[in-house]
Amino acid sequence: MSHSLALSAPTGLREYCGVIGVYAPGEDVARLTYFGLYALQHRGQESAGIATADGERLHVHTRMGLVAQVFTEPDLSRLVGHAAIGHTRYSTTGSSRVENAQPLVVDSDLGPLALGHNGNLVNASALREEVAELGVTPSGTTDSELLGLICARTPGADWLARLRTALPRLQGAFCLVLLAPDRLLAVRDPLGIRPLCLGRLPSGGWVVASESCALDTIGATFIREVDPGELLQIDADGVHSERLPTEGRRAACSFEHIYFARPDSIVDGRLVYAVRERMGQVLAREAPAEGDMVIAVPDASIPAAIGYATESGIPFREGLVKNRYIGRTFIQPQQGQRTGDVALKLNPLPEVLAGKRVVVVDDSIVRGTTTPRVVAQLRRAGAREVHMRISSPPMRWPCYLGVDTAPIEQLIAARMSVPEICAHIDADSLGYLSEAGLVEAIGLPASTLCNACFHGRYPMPVQAEQDKLALER
Ligand code: AMP
Repeated sequence: MSHSLALSAPTGLREYCGVIGVYAPGEDVARLTYFGLYALQHRGQESAGIATADGERLHVHTRMGLVAQVFTEPDLSRLVGHAAIGHTRYSTTGSSRVENAQPLVVDSDLGPLALGHNGNLVNASALREEVAELGVTPSGTTDSELLGLICARTPGADWLARLRTALPRLQGAFCLVLLAPDRLLAVRDPLGIRPLCLGRLPSGGWVVASESCALDTIGATFIREVDPGELLQIDADGVHSERLPTEGRRAACSFEHIYFARPDSIVDGRLVYAVRERMGQVLAREAPAEGDMVIAVPDASIPAAIGYATESGIPFREGLVKNRYIGRTFIQPQQGQRTGDVALKLNPLPEVLAGKRVVVVDDSIVRGTTTPRVVAQLRRAGAREVHMRISSPPMRWPCYLGVDTAPIEQLIAARMSVPEICAHIDADSLGYLSEAGLVEAIGLPASTLCNACFHGRYPMPVQAEQDKLALER
């Protein structure tokens, strides 16, 4: 089942984030969570936070900024307990404020509950009305807070009972970590849109995290991915697992594989690095180019560029050097700032590029801000020809399910044909990976993937949400 979107899209409350939960009595859970968050920093650089549970109370610290800026040694020392959850957040302009930083805490008759959310709900407007009917005024503007309030107000003898009732009312993408004073809970939405995995510490403690790279970083062993619709409770009795009702279908986000996840993570049973290499190989077959070298726009597209080089027989070189201390260009909320950032972030190597026909692989073109700058930089550095190759299909539709792309009116491929984009970016040629090629590279049936940003067929209705948000603008 899929649902098309016909109208122009609004700028909603989209978030993409990283979450982690640690249950490890006797260990410094705050510090483990902190290092786990470091490994998930690529999933959100706007704010970060940790909540810990000591059996009776929760302790929370959240702030705007990168993980390294948010926590000091004394902050970590104050976060005592046997379990913790952590969150890194990125959001669009407008909701970039500290009230929306997570973990957020809601109060209830069962005591406090801290919550970290990765994803985006498509029925937030309906949930907002539900919360208003309960006479509660949310303090922030995120759907995550609505989600917390609904879980807290739903009847039920314990958190598992409440989540069983509350979660099926949510539509969209939600990987959640929840912390009560005596237990850690985690859930992955029934379509498995965003990733979540389970690992074990050498001490016997448990970890859930958005990506397996966070497990590796804190010395936990990857056990398995959390199943779509799986609800986990980890407490003194161990791990309890149960399933929310599912429709038996999947909608795993392809963009996790293309750009978002770290290459050393396992997502949907695949090492992301290997998927990206295959994307490059398929791209080389689908959109061949004559060139003297293949270069990547670092970092996300390096594996795809290596794959392109291997398949085409054209040598891989480094032609652009990235300043690794500058965040992903999207982090700047202003269009003007984003433009300037490309030069801050990437510097070409004239000795490598001068006089050469260069095949440049990037993972995506979204607004079309970055690519013309990259092409211009390469030409200034002496490249004779610039052949742009993109390891994903043209992105024509906005994401409502947790990847912050751009509203439809800003998506360049929604407005221009491929030849028009080629002229706009001033490349000698431009080639994209096809949808079929993407599916082949990921190696999962197309029916189990969410490729809505490429074809506009969403895995659930998003129209009502879009109409409401349009009214709110
Ligand atoms: P743009 O300049 O808007 O066309 O952005 C394209 C560049 O941003 C590509 O080089 C991608 O690597 C990167 N990118 C793609 N999607 C995202 C995203 N959702 N958030 C941040 N960066 C992205």
